[in-house]
Amino acid sequence: MSICPHCGGNACYEQAVTEEVTTSFCFGCGYSTSTLMTEGGELVNKTLEASPELYKDLMFTSEDSRVWFPATVTLPGKGMVFVDGNSKDDWKCAAVTSVEILEEEKAKFPKGQTTKMDMKNIKHFEKEDFMESLDAIKFFDIEVAEKDGGQNV
Ligand SMILES: [Zn+2]
Repeated sequence: MSICPHCGGNACYEQAVTEEVTTSFCFGCGYSTSTLMTEGGELVNKTLEASPELYKDLMFTSEDSRVWFPATVTLPGKGMVFVDGNSKDDWKCAAVTSVEILEEEKAKFPKGQTTKMDMKNIKHFEKEDFMESLDAIKFFDIEVAEKDGGQNV
């Protein structure tokens, strides 16, 4: 764990994905980046094109010219954590848990899919409680190695 340049907390988790690429994910504020996310870089531009307005507003550039965004964490079959809101000044962390797809609904989903995100049971958390929103989807019950597979940077 290292210091997060965004929130100043010491819960920033770094992982070398390949020899060249390292990702960073802060458990405190939920921000993430990678060594490919450089200011003005191609990947940042692509991310901006694909991101909702709120994520663009919340973009953060650290001193080393890395571009950070709030992470969307998806745990297949368990739930999802994301940021939810209207603007930079009006947003919260949100967690939704997965529920079983009912027999009569199965036709609406891809074959073999057994759970869906239940938006009706969405829970909101304060900005600095990203970790609690992860806990709400039982994120800490699984191994670190699995976690990165579900992390959408
Ligand atoms: Zn942070």
